[in-house]
Amino acid sequence: MRCNCEQNLRLELRTVMYTRNVMIRHVPVLVCDHCLTYELIPSMKSDLKKYVDAFSKQPGKISLSLTDYHELADLIYEVLAEGEYSEGILMSKLEYEIGERINLLLDLYKMAEKMQDEDWVRDIRERLSQLSVSLPEMSVMHADA
Ligand SMILES: [Zn+2]
Repeated sequence: MRCNCEQNLRLELRTVMYTRNVMIRHVPVLVCDHCLTYELIPSMKSDLKKYVDAFSKQPGKISLSLTDYHELADLIYEVLAEGEYSEGILMSKLEYEIGERINLLLDLYKMAEKMQDEDWVRDIRERLSQLSVSLPEMSVMHADA
């Protein structure tokens, strides 16, 4: 994926202050080193807005790690923590890890359905949706790398 200035965008985790009292750590963003701008991964925007809306209603300052709420953020955090990769390798590694995580969640899903645990089924479905919407974007980033 490229910036408007034609530079390659770099994936990194940032702490973002969304409102006066909501701070979210480990937000995956695409950074342009040339323009010094960053943008959110498109498929994560609506999820982030949901968390910010929910937490900004609570009193006091809130600081949370997105890795505790979002499967894709958690996965990106884990992969980036493993070390430095060139962009192409990073993207194929992420694609691989996303596939593995989806398989794991699908196994859990079957188990939850068998146990007729509706809350668990709903939770897993939500986690799967956090991962599935991101796949095409990751592929685009990979193709451009
Ligand atoms: Zn740029």
